[in-house]
Amino acid sequence: MPGKLYIVGIGPGKSDLLTLRAKKVLEEAEVVLGHRTYVRRVMDVLNPEAEVIESKMGKELERVKLAVKLSKDRRVCLVSGGDPGIYGMTSLVLEYIMANEINVSFEVVPGITAMSSASPLLGCPVSGDHCVISLSDLLVPWDVVERRLISALLGDFVVVVYNPSSRRRAKNLKRAMEIVLRFKGDVPVGCVKNAEREKTEVWITKPSEVVEELEKGKNRIDMHTILFIPSSETVFDGKRMLTPRGYSSKYELHELHEPRRSSAENSLKLLEEVSGARTNEGLRIAEKSAGVAKMLLSRARFGELERFIAERCITATADPSISALLRFNRTEDVVKAMDSCEKVVVDVEMVKAGIENRVYREILVASKLGGGGKTVVSSGIRKLKDCINDSFVAVGNAPSALKELCRIIDEGVKPGAVVATPVGFTNAAGAKEELMKKDVPWVVVEGVRGGSTLCVAIVNAVAALSGLK
Ligand code: SAH
Repeated sequence: MPGKLYIVGIGPGKSDLLTLRAKKVLEEAEVVLGHRTYVRRVMDVLNPEAEVIESKMGKELERVKLAVKLSKDRRVCLVSGGDPGIYGMTSLVLEYIMANEINVSFEVVPGITAMSSASPLLGCPVSGDHCVISLSDLLVPWDVVERRLISALLGDFVVVVYNPSSRRRAKNLKRAMEIVLRFKGDVPVGCVKNAEREKTEVWITKPSEVVEELEKGKNRIDMHTILFIPSSETVFDGKRMLTPRGYSSKYELHELHEPRRSSAENSLKLLEEVSGARTNEGLRIAEKSAGVAKMLLSRARFGELERFIAERCITATADPSISALLRFNRTEDVVKAMDSCEKVVVDVEMVKAGIENRVYREILVASKLGGGGKTVVSSGIRKLKDCINDSFVAVGNAPSALKELCRIIDEGVKPGAVVATPVGFTNAAGAKEELMKKDVPWVVVEGVRGGSTLCVAIVNAVAALSGLK
Protein backbone atom coordinates (compact mmCIF):
# COMPACT_ATOMS: atom_id res chain seq x y z
CA MET A 1 0.00 0.00 0.00
CA PRO A 2 1.43 3.43 -0.88
CA GLY A 3 2.16 5.59 2.10
CA LYS A 4 0.55 8.90 3.04
CA LEU A 5 1.36 11.74 5.38
CA TYR A 6 -1.43 13.12 7.59
CA ILE A 7 -0.85 16.35 9.46
CA VAL A 8 -3.37 15.99 12.24
CA GLY A 9 -4.79 18.71 14.46
CA ILE A 10 -5.69 17.10 17.78
CA GLY A 11 -7.59 20.05 19.32
CA PRO A 12 -6.93 21.61 22.71
CA GLY A 13 -6.50 18.45 24.77
CA LYS A 14 -9.62 16.56 25.88
CA SER A 15 -10.23 13.55 23.64
CA ASP A 16 -13.89 14.35 22.99
CA LEU A 17 -12.75 17.43 21.11
CA LEU A 18 -10.79 15.32 18.66
CA THR A 19 -12.63 15.36 15.32
CA LEU A 20 -14.03 12.07 13.99
CA ARG A 21 -11.66 12.33 11.06
CA ALA A 22 -8.62 12.86 13.28
CA LYS A 23 -9.67 9.87 15.37
CA LYS A 24 -10.01 7.68 12.27
CA VAL A 25 -6.61 8.53 10.76
CA LEU A 26 -4.93 8.13 14.15
CA GLU A 27 -6.53 4.69 14.64
CA GLU A 28 -5.25 3.63 11.23
CA ALA A 29 -1.77 5.15 11.55
CA GLU A 30 1.31 2.97 11.27
CA VAL A 31 3.64 5.68 12.53
CA VAL A 32 2.80 8.62 14.80
CA LEU A 33 5.22 11.49 15.27
CA GLY A 34 4.99 14.61 17.32
CA HIS A 35 6.03 16.57 20.34
CA ARG A 36 5.65 14.30 23.33
CA THR A 37 2.85 16.22 25.07
CA TYR A 38 0.67 15.93 21.95
CA VAL A 39 1.51 12.30 21.23
CA ARG A 40 0.67 11.36 24.81
CA ARG A 41 -2.74 13.00 24.50
CA VAL A 42 -3.81 10.66 21.69
CA MET A 43 -2.11 7.48 22.90
CA ASP A 44 -5.46 5.86 23.81
CA VAL A 45 -6.72 6.17 20.26
CA LEU A 46 -3.68 4.61 18.52
CA ASN A 47 -3.33 1.09 17.27
CA PRO A 48 -1.07 -0.69 19.80
CA GLU A 49 1.04 -1.88 16.86
CA ALA A 50 1.73 1.68 15.70
CA GLU A 51 5.27 2.97 15.97
CA VAL A 52 5.37 6.10 18.16
CA ILE A 53 8.17 8.63 17.74
CA GLU A 54 8.14 11.36 20.39
CA SER A 55 10.31 14.38 19.92
CA LYS A 56 11.34 17.44 21.87
CA MET A 57 10.47 21.07 21.35
CA GLY A 58 12.61 22.91 18.81
CA LYS A 59 13.29 19.88 16.60
CA GLU A 60 10.52 20.64 14.13
CA LEU A 61 12.48 20.31 10.89
CA GLU A 62 13.98 16.97 11.90
CA ARG A 63 10.47 15.75 12.71
CA VAL A 64 9.12 16.92 9.35
CA LYS A 65 11.99 15.35 7.37
CA LEU A 66 11.49 12.04 9.13
CA ALA A 67 7.71 12.14 8.65
CA VAL A 68 8.06 12.87 4.93
CA LYS A 69 10.63 10.09 4.53
CA LEU A 70 8.57 7.48 6.39
CA SER A 71 5.39 8.39 4.53
CA LYS A 72 6.79 7.09 1.23
CA ASP A 73 5.43 3.63 2.09
CA ARG A 74 3.64 3.95 5.46
CA ARG A 75 0.63 5.76 6.84
CA VAL A 76 2.21 8.46 8.98
CA CYS A 77 0.44 10.89 11.31
CA LEU A 78 2.31 14.03 12.32
CA VAL A 79 0.31 15.39 15.25
CA SER A 80 0.01 19.07 16.15
CA GLY A 81 -1.90 20.76 19.00
CA GLY A 82 -5.12 22.63 18.20
CA ASP A 83 -5.24 23.26 14.48
CA PRO A 84 -2.02 22.38 12.63
CA GLY A 85 -2.35 25.43 10.37
CA ILE A 86 -2.37 27.94 13.26
CA TYR A 87 1.16 28.34 14.65
CA GLY A 88 1.48 24.61 13.94
CA MET A 89 3.27 22.16 11.69
CA THR A 90 1.43 22.45 8.34
CA SER A 91 3.37 25.45 7.06
CA LEU A 92 6.75 23.86 7.72
CA VAL A 93 5.76 20.62 5.95
CA LEU A 94 4.58 22.59 2.91
CA GLU A 95 7.61 24.85 2.92
CA TYR A 96 9.91 21.83 3.08
CA ILE A 97 8.25 19.81 0.32
CA MET A 98 7.83 22.86 -1.93
CA ALA A 99 11.44 23.96 -1.49
CA ASN A 100 12.71 20.49 -2.31
CA GLU A 101 10.05 19.60 -4.88
CA ILE A 102 9.25 16.41 -3.00
CA ASN A 103 6.34 14.44 -4.32
CA VAL A 104 4.52 13.17 -1.28
CA SER A 105 0.89 12.33 -0.80
CA PHE A 106 -0.41 14.28 2.19
CA GLU A 107 -3.60 15.46 3.85
CA VAL A 108 -4.23 18.03 6.55
CA VAL A 109 -6.82 17.15 9.19
CA PRO A 110 -8.04 20.39 10.80
CA GLY A 111 -8.42 20.65 14.56
CA ILE A 112 -10.15 22.89 17.07
CA THR A 113 -7.80 25.79 17.69
CA ALA A 114 -7.16 27.31 21.14
CA MET A 115 -9.21 30.41 20.28
CA SER A 116 -12.30 28.30 19.58
CA SER A 117 -11.95 26.18 22.69
CA ALA A 118 -11.12 29.08 25.01
CA SER A 119 -13.74 31.58 23.73
CA PRO A 120 -16.86 29.86 25.13
CA LEU A 121 -15.26 29.71 28.58
CA LEU A 122 -15.27 33.52 28.62
CA GLY A 123 -18.65 33.98 26.93
CA CYS A 124 -18.33 35.16 23.37
CA PRO A 125 -15.30 37.44 23.06
CA VAL A 126 -14.94 36.82 19.34
CA SER A 127 -18.01 36.98 17.15
CA GLY A 128 -16.91 39.00 14.17
CA ASP A 129 -13.75 40.57 12.85
CA HIS A 130 -10.70 39.79 14.92
CA CYS A 131 -6.92 39.49 14.69
CA VAL A 132 -4.80 36.64 15.93
CA ILE A 133 -1.26 37.48 17.04
CA SER A 134 1.55 35.45 18.55
CA LEU A 135 3.91 37.21 20.95
CA SER A 136 6.69 34.74 20.26
CA ASP A 137 9.69 36.38 18.66
CA LEU A 138 11.47 33.12 17.95
CA LEU A 139 10.43 33.19 14.29
CA VAL A 140 9.19 36.77 13.82
CA PRO A 141 11.29 39.81 14.85
CA TRP A 142 9.82 41.64 17.85
CA ASP A 143 9.46 44.97 16.04
CA VAL A 144 7.20 43.24 13.49
CA VAL A 145 5.10 41.70 16.27
CA GLU A 146 4.83 45.11 17.92
CA ARG A 147 3.84 46.86 14.69
CA ARG A 148 1.15 44.26 13.99
CA LEU A 149 -0.22 44.51 17.51
CA ILE A 150 -0.47 48.30 17.26
CA SER A 151 -2.20 48.06 13.86
CA ALA A 152 -4.70 45.54 15.19
CA LEU A 153 -5.48 47.74 18.20
CA LEU A 154 -5.87 50.82 16.03
CA GLY A 155 -8.10 48.82 13.68
CA ASP A 156 -10.34 48.17 16.70
CA PHE A 157 -10.25 44.41 16.23
CA VAL A 158 -10.69 41.98 19.09
CA VAL A 159 -7.08 40.80 19.41
CA VAL A 160 -6.50 37.16 20.33
CA VAL A 161 -2.99 36.59 21.69
CA TYR A 162 -1.32 33.19 21.29
CA ASN A 163 2.04 32.40 22.91
CA PRO A 164 1.67 35.34 25.34
CA SER A 165 4.56 34.35 27.55
CA SER A 166 7.13 31.81 28.46
CA ARG A 167 9.89 31.83 31.04
CA ARG A 168 12.35 33.10 28.46
CA ARG A 169 10.02 35.69 26.94
CA ALA A 170 8.28 37.39 29.89
CA LYS A 171 9.41 40.81 28.68
CA ASN A 172 7.40 40.45 25.48
CA LEU A 173 4.18 40.23 27.47
CA LYS A 174 5.13 43.32 29.49
CA ARG A 175 5.85 45.29 26.33
CA ALA A 176 2.63 44.11 24.71
CA MET A 177 0.57 45.13 27.74
CA GLU A 178 2.24 48.54 27.77
CA ILE A 179 1.21 48.94 24.14
CA VAL A 180 -2.38 48.00 24.98
CA LEU A 181 -2.31 50.56 27.79
CA ARG A 182 -1.01 53.23 25.46
CA PHE A 183 -3.40 52.59 22.58
CA LYS A 184 -6.54 51.28 24.31
CA GLY A 185 -6.23 52.27 27.94
CA ASP A 186 -6.54 49.95 30.93
CA VAL A 187 -9.20 47.72 29.37
CA PRO A 188 -10.31 44.36 30.79
CA VAL A 189 -8.46 41.45 29.17
CA GLY A 190 -9.89 37.92 29.11
CA CYS A 191 -7.49 35.07 29.95
CA VAL A 192 -7.94 31.31 29.61
CA LYS A 193 -5.29 28.84 30.76
CA ASN A 194 -5.46 25.19 29.73
CA ALA A 195 -8.80 25.39 27.92
CA GLU A 196 -10.39 21.94 27.60
CA ARG A 197 -7.59 20.28 29.55
CA GLU A 198 -6.91 19.50 33.19
CA LYS A 199 -6.61 22.53 35.52
CA THR A 200 -8.50 25.01 33.36
CA GLU A 201 -8.40 28.60 34.64
CA VAL A 202 -10.47 31.53 33.38
CA TRP A 203 -10.04 35.10 34.63
CA ILE A 204 -10.22 38.73 33.63
CA THR A 205 -7.30 41.05 34.25
CA LYS A 206 -6.09 44.47 33.10
CA PRO A 207 -2.87 45.48 31.32
CA SER A 208 -1.77 47.57 34.34
CA GLU A 209 -2.23 44.56 36.65
CA VAL A 210 -0.20 42.32 34.35
CA VAL A 211 2.62 44.88 34.15
CA GLU A 212 2.58 45.27 37.95
CA GLU A 213 2.70 41.51 38.51
CA LEU A 214 5.52 41.09 36.01
CA GLU A 215 7.50 43.83 37.74
CA LYS A 216 7.17 41.83 40.97
CA GLY A 217 8.45 38.77 39.12
CA LYS A 218 5.05 37.06 39.17
CA ASN A 219 3.25 35.81 36.11
CA ARG A 220 -0.03 33.97 36.03
CA ILE A 221 -0.11 34.18 32.23
CA ASP A 222 2.08 31.40 30.83
CA MET A 223 2.59 29.45 27.61
CA HIS A 224 -0.65 27.52 28.18
CA THR A 225 -2.69 30.72 28.27
CA ILE A 226 -4.51 32.61 25.53
CA LEU A 227 -5.60 36.26 25.85
CA PHE A 228 -8.51 38.20 24.43
CA ILE A 229 -8.08 41.97 24.15
CA PRO A 230 -11.46 43.65 23.62
CA SER A 231 -12.57 45.93 20.80
CA SER A 232 -14.59 49.06 21.55
CA GLU A 233 -17.75 46.97 21.07
CA THR A 234 -16.86 44.34 23.66
CA VAL A 235 -18.83 44.36 26.90
CA PHE A 236 -18.17 42.72 30.28
CA ASP A 237 -20.65 41.86 33.01
CA GLY A 238 -18.11 40.97 35.67
CA LYS A 239 -17.74 37.35 34.57
CA ARG A 240 -18.60 37.16 30.91
CA MET A 241 -16.99 38.86 27.94
CA LEU A 242 -19.14 39.50 24.89
CA THR A 243 -18.51 41.18 21.57
CA PRO A 244 -21.99 41.56 20.08
CA ARG A 245 -22.31 40.60 16.47
CA GLY A 246 -24.63 43.54 15.80
CA TYR A 247 -28.05 41.90 16.11
CA SER A 248 -29.31 44.80 18.17
CA SER A 249 -29.49 46.85 14.97
CA LYS A 250 -31.73 44.14 13.43
CA TYR A 251 -33.88 43.16 16.41
CA GLU A 252 -35.22 44.79 19.55
CA LEU A 253 -33.41 42.66 22.12
CA HIS A 254 -34.53 44.46 25.27
CA GLU A 255 -37.66 42.76 26.51
CA LEU A 256 -37.58 44.20 29.99
CA HIS A 257 -37.76 47.88 29.15
CA GLU A 258 -37.73 50.05 26.09
CA PRO A 259 -34.38 51.75 25.55
CA ARG A 260 -34.59 55.49 25.99
CA ARG A 261 -34.48 57.51 22.81
CA SER A 262 -34.23 61.25 22.44
CA SER A 263 -36.81 62.78 20.13
CA ALA A 264 -35.85 63.79 16.58
CA GLU A 265 -36.63 67.37 17.47
CA ASN A 266 -34.26 67.34 20.40
CA SER A 267 -31.49 65.84 18.28
CA LEU A 268 -31.82 68.49 15.61
CA LYS A 269 -31.78 71.26 18.17
CA LEU A 270 -28.72 69.79 19.83
CA LEU A 271 -27.00 69.39 16.51
CA GLU A 272 -27.70 72.96 15.51
CA GLU A 273 -26.28 74.17 18.77
CA VAL A 274 -23.24 72.00 18.93
CA SER A 275 -22.19 72.16 15.29
CA GLY A 276 -22.58 75.90 15.10
CA ALA A 277 -24.31 75.54 11.72
CA ARG A 278 -25.90 78.82 10.72
CA THR A 279 -27.31 78.00 7.30
CA ASN A 280 -29.54 75.19 6.05
CA GLU A 281 -26.66 73.82 3.98
CA GLY A 282 -24.43 73.93 7.08
CA LEU A 283 -27.03 72.04 9.06
CA ARG A 284 -27.39 69.43 6.31
CA ILE A 285 -23.62 68.83 6.32
CA ALA A 286 -23.61 68.62 10.12
CA GLU A 287 -26.56 66.21 10.02
CA LYS A 288 -24.81 64.00 7.50
CA SER A 289 -21.57 63.74 9.45
CA ALA A 290 -23.46 63.21 12.72
CA GLY A 291 -25.27 60.35 10.94
CA VAL A 292 -21.95 58.74 10.11
CA ALA A 293 -20.74 59.14 13.70
CA LYS A 294 -24.02 57.63 14.97
CA MET A 295 -23.63 54.67 12.67
CA LEU A 296 -20.06 54.12 13.80
CA LEU A 297 -21.21 54.22 17.38
CA SER A 298 -24.31 52.09 16.95
CA ARG A 299 -22.80 49.16 18.78
CA ALA A 300 -20.90 50.88 21.57
CA ARG A 301 -22.39 50.54 25.04
CA PHE A 302 -22.97 54.11 26.10
CA GLY A 303 -25.85 55.87 27.77
CA GLU A 304 -27.61 58.67 25.93
CA LEU A 305 -25.38 61.47 27.27
CA GLU A 306 -22.14 59.59 26.71
CA ARG A 307 -23.23 58.61 23.21
CA PHE A 308 -23.88 62.22 22.27
CA ILE A 309 -20.46 63.29 23.55
CA ALA A 310 -18.78 60.37 21.76
CA GLU A 311 -20.52 61.28 18.50
CA ARG A 312 -19.14 64.78 18.75
CA CYS A 313 -15.63 63.45 19.35
CA ILE A 314 -15.86 61.19 16.30
CA THR A 315 -17.21 64.01 14.16
CA ALA A 316 -14.46 66.36 15.34
CA THR A 317 -11.68 63.92 14.51
CA ALA A 318 -13.22 61.65 11.82
CA ASP A 319 -11.74 58.87 13.92
CA PRO A 320 -14.15 56.22 15.26
CA SER A 321 -11.47 54.58 17.41
CA ILE A 322 -11.52 57.60 19.71
CA SER A 323 -14.78 56.40 21.30
CA ALA A 324 -12.92 53.42 22.79
CA LEU A 325 -10.77 55.82 24.79
CA LEU A 326 -13.58 57.87 26.29
CA ARG A 327 -14.10 57.44 30.02
CA PHE A 328 -16.90 58.99 32.02
CA ASN A 329 -17.52 59.51 35.70
CA ARG A 330 -21.01 60.74 36.68
CA THR A 331 -21.81 62.23 33.29
CA GLU A 332 -25.10 63.72 34.52
CA ASP A 333 -23.15 65.70 37.12
CA VAL A 334 -20.73 66.86 34.42
CA VAL A 335 -23.71 68.32 32.55
CA LYS A 336 -25.17 69.80 35.75
CA ALA A 337 -21.81 71.40 36.56
CA MET A 338 -21.84 73.16 33.21
CA ASP A 339 -25.34 74.43 34.00
CA SER A 340 -24.53 75.76 37.42
CA CYS A 341 -20.93 76.95 37.14
CA GLU A 342 -20.05 80.62 36.98
CA LYS A 343 -16.59 80.18 35.54
CA VAL A 344 -14.85 77.89 33.13
CA VAL A 345 -11.12 77.33 33.69
CA VAL A 346 -9.05 76.11 30.73
CA ASP A 347 -5.36 75.41 30.25
CA VAL A 348 -4.69 77.07 26.89
CA GLU A 349 -6.07 79.76 24.58
CA MET A 350 -6.95 77.24 21.92
CA VAL A 351 -9.56 75.63 24.16
CA LYS A 352 -10.99 79.03 25.01
CA ALA A 353 -11.20 79.96 21.33
CA GLY A 354 -13.13 76.77 20.59
CA ILE A 355 -15.71 77.07 23.35
CA GLU A 356 -16.11 80.84 23.69
CA ASN A 357 -19.36 81.16 21.76
CA ARG A 358 -21.06 78.16 23.33
CA VAL A 359 -20.58 78.24 27.06
CA TYR A 360 -21.63 81.83 27.85
CA ARG A 361 -19.47 81.88 30.98
CA GLU A 362 -16.35 83.72 32.05
CA ILE A 363 -13.39 81.73 30.73
CA LEU A 364 -10.07 81.90 32.62
CA VAL A 365 -6.97 80.75 30.74
CA ALA A 366 -4.13 79.30 32.86
CA SER A 367 -1.39 79.76 30.26
CA LYS A 368 -2.01 83.53 30.26
CA LEU A 369 -1.54 83.84 34.01
CA GLY A 370 1.39 81.52 34.53
CA GLY A 371 5.08 82.03 34.99
CA GLY A 372 7.66 81.06 37.55
CA GLY A 373 6.46 77.52 38.21
CA LYS A 374 7.42 74.17 36.69
CA THR A 375 5.56 75.07 33.53
CA VAL A 376 3.65 78.20 32.60
CA VAL A 377 0.34 76.34 32.58
CA SER A 378 0.87 74.49 35.85
CA SER A 379 1.73 77.72 37.65
CA GLY A 380 -1.27 79.34 35.96
CA ILE A 381 -3.60 76.64 37.29
CA ARG A 382 -2.03 77.06 40.73
CA LYS A 383 -2.78 80.80 40.60
CA LEU A 384 -6.40 79.99 39.74
CA LYS A 385 -6.79 77.70 42.76
CA ASP A 386 -9.35 79.96 44.43
CA CYS A 387 -11.51 80.05 41.29
CA ILE A 388 -11.62 76.29 40.80
CA ASN A 389 -14.19 75.35 43.44
CA ASP A 390 -17.45 74.53 41.56
CA SER A 391 -15.98 75.74 38.27
CA PHE A 392 -16.00 73.71 35.08
CA VAL A 393 -12.36 72.86 34.29
CA ALA A 394 -11.16 71.81 30.82
CA VAL A 395 -7.57 70.72 30.26
CA GLY A 396 -7.04 70.08 26.57
CA ASN A 397 -3.35 70.30 26.08
CA ALA A 398 -0.95 70.29 28.99
CA PRO A 399 -0.40 67.23 31.20
CA SER A 400 1.41 69.43 33.73
CA ALA A 401 -1.76 71.51 34.16
CA LEU A 402 -3.75 68.37 34.89
CA LYS A 403 -1.18 67.14 37.39
CA GLU A 404 -1.33 70.47 39.20
CA LEU A 405 -5.12 70.32 39.15
CA CYS A 406 -4.98 66.87 40.78
CA ARG A 407 -2.76 68.31 43.51
CA ILE A 408 -5.24 71.14 44.04
CA ILE A 409 -8.08 68.61 44.30
CA ASP A 410 -6.02 66.71 46.88
CA GLU A 411 -5.82 69.95 48.87
CA GLY A 412 -9.60 69.84 49.20
CA VAL A 413 -10.76 71.98 46.27
CA LYS A 414 -13.73 70.55 44.36
CA PRO A 415 -14.21 71.54 40.73
CA GLY A 416 -17.78 71.12 39.49
CA ALA A 417 -16.49 68.87 36.70
CA VAL A 418 -13.29 68.24 34.76
CA VAL A 419 -12.81 67.48 31.07
CA ALA A 420 -9.28 66.15 30.55
CA THR A 421 -7.77 65.43 27.16
CA PRO A 422 -4.11 66.46 27.45
CA VAL A 423 -2.01 64.84 24.81
CA GLY A 424 1.50 63.45 24.42
CA PHE A 425 3.83 60.55 24.93
CA THR A 426 5.46 61.62 28.17
CA ASN A 427 3.06 62.54 30.95
CA ALA A 428 -0.44 62.66 29.51
CA ALA A 429 -1.58 59.09 30.20
CA GLY A 430 -0.34 59.17 33.79
CA ALA A 431 -1.89 62.56 34.58
CA LYS A 432 -5.26 61.35 33.28
CA GLU A 433 -5.05 58.16 35.29
CA GLU A 434 -4.45 60.25 38.39
CA LEU A 435 -7.55 62.32 37.68
CA MET A 436 -9.64 59.21 37.14
CA LYS A 437 -8.98 58.25 40.76
CA LYS A 438 -10.56 61.49 41.97
CA ASP A 439 -14.10 61.65 43.17
CA VAL A 440 -15.22 64.49 40.93
CA PRO A 441 -17.39 64.27 37.80
CA TRP A 442 -15.08 63.93 34.78
CA VAL A 443 -14.81 63.06 31.11
CA VAL A 444 -11.41 61.78 30.02
CA VAL A 445 -9.80 60.65 26.77
CA GLU A 446 -7.62 57.90 28.17
CA GLY A 447 -4.03 57.24 27.12
CA VAL A 448 -1.65 59.36 25.06
CA ARG A 449 -4.19 60.76 22.65
CA GLY A 450 -6.35 63.85 23.06
CA GLY A 451 -5.69 67.52 22.36
CA SER A 452 -7.56 70.80 22.27
CA THR A 453 -9.87 69.77 19.41
CA LEU A 454 -11.24 66.88 21.44
CA CYS A 455 -11.46 68.98 24.56
CA VAL A 456 -13.49 71.57 22.68
CA ALA A 457 -15.75 68.88 21.16
CA ILE A 458 -16.50 67.48 24.62
CA VAL A 459 -17.06 70.85 26.34
CA ASN A 460 -19.35 72.04 23.55
CA ALA A 461 -21.30 68.78 23.61
CA VAL A 462 -21.73 69.12 27.39
CA ALA A 463 -22.79 72.76 26.95
CA ALA A 464 -25.40 71.73 24.36
CA LEU A 465 -26.72 68.99 26.65
CA SER A 466 -26.91 71.35 29.61
CA GLY A 467 -28.75 73.96 27.55
CA LEU A 468 -31.63 71.54 27.00
CA LYS A 469 -32.14 70.68 30.66
N1 SAH B 1 -1.81 25.13 16.85
C1 SAH B 1 -2.26 25.55 18.16
C2 SAH B 1 -1.52 26.77 18.66
C3 SAH B 1 -0.06 26.54 18.91
S1 SAH B 1 0.74 27.95 19.56
C4 SAH B 1 -3.77 25.82 18.11
O1 SAH B 1 -4.34 25.88 17.03
O2 SAH B 1 -4.37 25.96 19.18
C5 SAH B 1 0.67 27.59 21.29
C6 SAH B 1 -0.19 28.63 22.00
O3 SAH B 1 -1.56 28.33 21.79
C7 SAH B 1 -0.02 28.61 23.51
O4 SAH B 1 1.09 29.39 23.93
C8 SAH B 1 -1.33 29.22 23.97
O5 SAH B 1 -1.30 30.61 23.81
C9 SAH B 1 -2.31 28.67 22.95
N2 SAH B 1 -2.98 27.45 23.43
C10 SAH B 1 -2.92 26.24 22.86
N3 SAH B 1 -3.71 25.38 23.51
C11 SAH B 1 -4.31 26.06 24.50
C12 SAH B 1 -5.26 25.74 25.53
N4 SAH B 1 -5.76 24.51 25.63
N5 SAH B 1 -5.67 26.71 26.38
C13 SAH B 1 -5.17 27.96 26.26
N6 SAH B 1 -4.28 28.33 25.33
C14 SAH B 1 -3.85 27.40 24.46
